[in-house]
Amino acid sequence: MYTQQLAALAAMSNKYGANPEYVLAGGGNTSFKSEDRLWVKGSGTALATIKAEDFVVLERKSLDAMWSTQYPEEEKAREAKVLEDMMNARVEGESRRPSVETLLHNLFPQRYILHVHPAIVNGLTCAKNGKEATKQLFPQAVWVEACKPGYILALECKKLMDAYKQETGKDCDLLFLENHGVFFAADTVQQLDVLAEGVMNALAAAVKRGPALEEVPADGQKVAQIAEVLAELYGGEQAAAVAFLANKEILSYDPATKSLSPDHIVYAKAKQLAIPADADVKELFEKFTAENGYKPKIVFVEGLGMFSCGANEKEASTAQIVMLDAIKVVAYTESFGGVSPMPEFLIDFIVNWEVESYRSKVSLGK
Ligand SMILES: [Zn+2]
Repeated sequence: MYTQQLAALAAMSNKYGANPEYVLAGGGNTSFKSEDRLWVKGSGTALATIKAEDFVVLERKSLDAMWSTQYPEEEKAREAKVLEDMMNARVEGESRRPSVETLLHNLFPQRYILHVHPAIVNGLTCAKNGKEATKQLFPQAVWVEACKPGYILALECKKLMDAYKQETGKDCDLLFLENHGVFFAADTVQQLDVLAEGVMNALAAAVKRGPALEEVPADGQKVAQIAEVLAELYGGEQAAAVAFLANKEILSYDPATKSLSPDHIVYAKAKQLAIPADADVKELFEKFTAENGYKPKIVFVEGLGMFSCGANEKEASTAQIVMLDAIKVVAYTESFGGVSPMPEFLIDFIVNWEVESYRSKVSLGK
C-alpha cells in the first residue's frame, strides 16, 4: 500500500537531503500521510540516504488524541510522557524512534511535508525584522515565535494554524518557526517543489548580500601548531580530530554572538571559545572548559580563522559545517534588520534537552 507515494517521499527526501542549501548534518525531516497513517523520518536518520522502508509508521488517530491529553506541567515529566505517547502511537511491530517533530507533521492535513533549516531561511527567522519581512514576502505564511521545542511548540503551531484556517478558510502550507526553520506542505511532491523553490528564490532576491565564503590564505605553520595543541586538549587520553577553515565571513564574525537555533547548539555547543592572536591556547581552553562544563567544539583565533574539534573527523567536520551555517545565517540577517539570537531560557532548555542529545548521538554514529 502507498508504494508509489512512499517512493516519491523517499525521492523527495533524498533530493533535499543531498542539497546543502536545504539540509546540513542529518537535520530536517519529511513525511507522507494517508487518512489514518503517518510515515515520518526516524530520529537521527539522514534525509540524503533514507529509503521508502526507513520511515517510521504511526497511527494518526493516536497522535491526534495527544492534543486533548492533559500532560504534566513539569517539563521533564511532560516531555517524557509525550515521548511515551508518541512511541505508543507507532503501528504494531515498529521499533524505531520517530522524529521529535512528528506532532507537527501530523498537524498539517497535506499529504507531503518537508521541514528544513536552510541558512537563507534562518536569515529571516533569526532576524530582528523577521516577522515583518515574512508578512511582506510571504503573506500566506504563518509565523511562530520562538518557544520550547517538543509538545509546547506543536501546541502553539496548532493554535496558530487553526486560527489561520478560521480566518482564511485555507490550510496553512507554509510555516516559519522563529530561530528554527520552515515547514512546507503540499498534496503532491510537485506542488511541494514549487512552494519550496518559490520561497528560496524570493529570499535570494530579497537578501542584499550573501555570505563571503571564499577561503582566505592562513599561516599554515601556525594553523598546524594550534591544531596539534587543540587535538591534545580536546581528546585528552583519546585521539581527537581538528579541522580548520578561514574565510572573510569567519574573520569578521563576532564570536560572542549567542546561539541562533537548536541545531547550532546540538552540534557546535551553546558557546564557542574565542582567543586573541598570540594568546596561550591551552590556558584559555582550560579556563573555558572549567567555566562552561564542556570542552569547546569551536575555537576562533583572532585574525587566523576557525578550528573545529571532535572525537573523530566526522564530528569535527559536522561542527565546522554547522558553525559555518550559523555564520552564514548571521550574514543573511543583515538584510532583515540584523541578528536576533534565541532567548536565553530557550538556549538553556536545548542544552538540557535529552531528545536533542539523542539525535546528535545517533547521527554521529555513536
Ligand atoms: Zn527542525
